Amino acid sequence: MLQVPIPDNEAKRLAKLCEYRILDSVPEAAYDRLTRLATIVFDTPVALISLIEGERQWFKAKVGIDAEEAPRKISFCAHTICQDDVFVIEDATRNATFSDNPFVTGDAHLRFYAGAPLRAPGGMNIGTIAITDTKPRVFESEQRQSLSDLAEMVVHTLESRLLIEHAERAEERLVDAMESLADGFVLYDKDDRLVLCNSKYREIYADSASLIVPGMKFEDIIRGGVQKGQYPDAAGCEEAWIAERLDMHKNPGEPIEQQLPGDRWLSIQERRTSEGGRVGFRVDITKLKRQERELERLAWTDSLTGAMNRRRFMEQAESELDRARRHGCDMSLLVLDADNFKTINDRNGHAAGDAVLSGLVQRWKKTLRSHDMIGRIGGEEFVILLPEVDGNGALRTAERLRQSIAELPFEHEGLLIRATVSIGIAQCVPGDTLAGMMKRADTALYQAKDAGRNRFVMSAA
Ligand code: GH3
Ligand code: MG
Ligand code: MG
Repeated sequence: MLQVPIPDNEAKRLAKLCEYRILDSVPEAAYDRLTRLATIVFDTPVALISLIEGERQWFKAKVGIDAEEAPRKISFCAHTICQDDVFVIEDATRNATFSDNPFVTGDAHLRFYAGAPLRAPGGMNIGTIAITDTKPRVFESEQRQSLSDLAEMVVHTLESRLLIEHAERAEERLVDAMESLADGFVLYDKDDRLVLCNSKYREIYADSASLIVPGMKFEDIIRGGVQKGQYPDAAGCEEAWIAERLDMHKNPGEPIEQQLPGDRWLSIQERRTSEGGRVGFRVDITKLKRQERELERLAWTDSLTGAMNRRRFMEQAESELDRARRHGCDMSLLVLDADNFKTINDRNGHAAGDAVLSGLVQRWKKTLRSHDMIGRIGGEEFVILLPEVDGNGALRTAERLRQSIAELPFEHEGLLIRATVSIGIAQCVPGDTLAGMMKRADTALYQAKDAGRNRFVMSAA
């Protein structure tokens, strides 16, 4: 018996076979159809499609035999894969190479064999399609051509199956990668229709998740989202907000911040894709945003009393004054100073003095409206801005503020500490400045001190 031949490009051939391996688990009716067709076209009892790998030949599809595989060293097909063309043994009993082959001498009683190599792209023969008979036969040239055509159809089937498999794998990988992201991910095509997004993206936009489906246009998702209250910023200026958002989406640039219900915040980063679509990321920056606000609050706040610090008060008061001037609104400013505070410290200690200073602001906050502003501008000196309050209103407020301190002592570590404050009031006049109001209130404050403390004085003009 002749040595079983090994193709020259065996390594490349095996690599290709390895690639086809991913098809092993896929039951492929197409191969069965082709072997059935072969038995009919050539009127033979046996037809098989086999791949040859290592020491064995295994059958991807077969008609007329029970075995799943055969040893390579006795395989007729092992010879076929070394051929460029169809390989035919018309009568094996009369062929010196095959007459003592176990398939010929054994139960299979094989006498006729015709096999065509399965030629994969790149010229590797990775297997065969073959027909056999127990009778000797003559194989005409048209029959050779038909077997060769069938071989080509088998390779086509393998290749297209492989392409589908690769595509499905690529998609699986993409989905897997997308889902493992901690951030929201979305892709829109060149017509601005949603192609895909991860579940995190839908989770982020929970209120409008029902709109976030493939094929939906970005604009419709945004409009629907506005209707569903997904974007608190849009309330009251819906069309303008939508126009601005669409513009940013059309001309993506630096990341933008977006507010969501429940004081949640996102950073949105959008980029153009090569086909003219948009890819977008949504990063939850709620924690960062809250920390940022807390830091700002701390930077603006006097740590002992919780009032605004001087700088913050001045900035806020300037913009309030600006607003009052533009709208012609009333506004009043009070300067408040703790009376004889040195004595309070001397009698009760500095810590008790601190407790009183903090107590002053707490009592005033209870007395004032939420948009009135308290600033600490000196050790025991404060300033209060009352937007939309005229002179009479300011007098009433000053009395309430004075009373809130004088009526009850403060308590600190068992000590009861009586305190009073003096107040100077300035009412905003046309063409006024903040410095002007502060100065007039300060002068009035000194008048209140001179007049005996625990009282308020309205500045002349
Ligand atoms: P007047 O009624 O004229 O305002 O008398 P006064 O004693 O309050 O005024 P003065 O300006 O002489 O003293 C202010 C005192 O306030 C002196 C200072 O030690 C005290 N003080 C300033 N800042 C703080 C603080 O943060 N904590 C405490 N405990 N005391 C402070
Ligand atoms: Mg004082
Ligand atoms: Mg003072």
